[in-house]
Amino acid sequence: MLPGQGRMSLPHKGKDSSPLGMSRWPLPEPMRIALDEAQRGESAGEVPIGAVVVKDGAVIAAAHNAPRGLHDPTAHAEVLAIRAAADKLGNERLDGCELWVTLEPCAMCAGAIAHARIARLYYAAADAKGGAVEHGARVFEHEQSLHKPEVYSGMGADEASTLLKAFFARRRQG
Ligand SMILES: [Zn+2]
Repeated sequence: MLPGQGRMSLPHKGKDSSPLGMSRWPLPEPMRIALDEAQRGESAGEVPIGAVVVKDGAVIAAAHNAPRGLHDPTAHAEVLAIRAAADKLGNERLDGCELWVTLEPCAMCAGAIAHARIARLYYAAADAKGGAVEHGARVFEHEQSLHKPEVYSGMGADEASTLLKAFFARRRQG
C-alpha cells in the first residue's frame, strides 16, 4: 500500500509554496519517480513532464516527455508510459492500473488514458492552458468518454510547477 493511496481526501497545502524537495508532506513514491522522470526529460532538452504506471502497488513503467528527441508529436510522458506498461503486460488494456503524472494531461493523453482503461489518475500541477481533465475539453466528463478514471490532483504540484517554471524561464533567457 502506497502512502497517499486510496479514497481519503488529500491534505491541502497552504498558499506559501515550498521550494523543490521541501514538501510539507512526503510525496508518494510514484509521484517522486514521476518528478525524477520530469527532471530527466529536462536534462534531455524536453519540457519537464514525467509519468509512471503503477499496478498492484509496483511501478511497471516510467517515462518523460520526449517529442523533440523522438521526433514524435505524440510522445508525451503519459502516452510513452502507457505504451511501455501495455507492452510489459501484453495487454492493450491497463485495467486496475494507476497513472501518475506531473502535469494535468492534455486532450490526447486523456483520450489515451480512457482507451487504456486506467483506473486511477493522479496528476500534480493543474494546466489551465493545455489541460483537458479539469480544464478545457474535460474529456472524462463527456458522455462519449469510453471510460472515466478516478482523478486525484495536487500532490507534488509545487515541485512539478517549479520544474516547469524554471525550464521556461531558462528557455526565455537562452
Ligand atoms: Zn499529453
